[in-house]
Amino acid sequence: MPNSSTQQQIPVTLIPGDGIGPEIVDVVVRVFDTLGNPFAWETQQAGVNALEKHGDLLPQATLDSISRTGLALKGPLSTPVGGGFRSVNVRLREAYQLYANVRPARTIVPGGRYEKIDLVLIRENLEGLYVGHEHYVPIGDDAHAVAMATGINTRAGSRRISKFAFDYAVRNNRRKVTIVHKANVLKALTGLFLETAKQVGLNYADQIEFNDRIVDACAMQLVLNPWQFDVIVSTNLFGDILSDQIAGLVGGLGMAPGANIGERAAIFEAVHGSAPDIAGKGMANPTALLLAAALMLEHKGQKEKATFLRDAIDSVLSTASGRTADLGGTVSTSKYGDLLIERIRDMQK
Ligand code: NAD
Repeated sequence: MPNSSTQQQIPVTLIPGDGIGPEIVDVVVRVFDTLGNPFAWETQQAGVNALEKHGDLLPQATLDSISRTGLALKGPLSTPVGGGFRSVNVRLREAYQLYANVRPARTIVPGGRYEKIDLVLIRENLEGLYVGHEHYVPIGDDAHAVAMATGINTRAGSRRISKFAFDYAVRNNRRKVTIVHKANVLKALTGLFLETAKQVGLNYADQIEFNDRIVDACAMQLVLNPWQFDVIVSTNLFGDILSDQIAGLVGGLGMAPGANIGERAAIFEAVHGSAPDIAGKGMANPTALLLAAALMLEHKGQKEKATFLRDAIDSVLSTASGRTADLGGTVSTSKYGDLLIERIRDMQK
C-alpha cells in the first residue's frame, strides 16, 4: 500500500458539524493518518456550532473554503427548530449546483435481513417536486382550503442526471441501470424524465443494460428481490424515499454514506443526523462517515485506497467485538477507531 503523503495532497474542506459530528470526524482523521492521507484537511464550521460562534449556520468563510477546494467532507448538522432558518444542506445544494445525490447500499454486517446487497441509488437533487413552488388557495374563511405544489423537471436536468448515472455505471463496472418514474400517471413531469433517460441509455447500449420501473412497483421489488437491481436513477422525491429504503436493506442510516456531486463542488456526508440523544457519550458509529470518505477517495481517482479502507471496515465489523451499540456491540466510538487503525496496520504489513 503506497503512502501518498509524499505526493501533492488534495485540499478538502472538513466540517465537523454538530452533535456526534466532531466525535466521528475525529475517527476519520485518525484513520486517514494511518491509511496514508491523500487529503489536506481545511477545517471549517457549519451548523448550530457556527451559528453560536459566527451568527450564521453557514458562514462565508466555509463557503469560501468549499469554493476554493471544490471538495468537502461534512459531519451532520442540526437544524434549529423555529426561527425560520433555511436548511444548510439545501443552501449548499443550490450554491454549488449539487445535482446528483449518490447513495450506495452494501451489506457489511452479516446476519441482517438481506445478505449480499450491493446497489447504488442516484437521485436528481435540484428539480422535481423539491423546487418548493407551493401555495394555498383560500375558500371562504379557510385560508388553507386548498394546497398546491408544482414540480419542475427539465430535459436538460433529466439528461444531466441520466448521463451521470450511466457514466457512474461504466466507471464502477456496474451492469445495469434502472430508470424509476411514475410516467403512467405524471405523464408530463416524470414522462419527460423517462423519455430523456431512455434516450441517454441508448448511447450506452453496448456497455450497460437498462430498464425502467414504476416507483411503486420498484419499492415492492426492492423488498421482494433487491438483488435484481444494480444502479437506480430517479427524480428528486422518488429518489429521496427509495434511498432511505435501500439504507434499510443494509442495517439503517448508521451505515449509509452519501455524495452530492455538482459542477462546482462535491460534498460527501453520512446520511444520518447529529444524533443529539447520544452526542458526547462515545456511542456513535463512525462507519457511515468513513464510507463517505471512501466515496471521496474514489471521486478523486484513489480507488485502490477506497477498497483498502472498505476491506478494513468489513474486517472489523465482521465480528461482534468490533461493533458499536447501534449494531448490537459494546465498542465505543474511539475504540472502534483504534480497532480499525490496528487492522489497517496489519493489512499494510
Ligand atoms: P438522527 O439521524 O440524528 O438520529 C436518529 C436516530 O439514529 C437516533 O436515535 C440516533 O442516536 C441514531 N443515530 C444516528 N446516527 C448514528 C450513528 N452514527 N451512530 C449511532 N446511532 C446513530 O436523526 P434526528 O434525530 O431526526 O435528527 C437530529 C438532528 O440532525 C436534527 O437537527 C436534524 O435536522 C439533523 N439532521 C441532519 C442531517 C444532515 O446534516 N445530513 C440529516 C438528518 C438529520
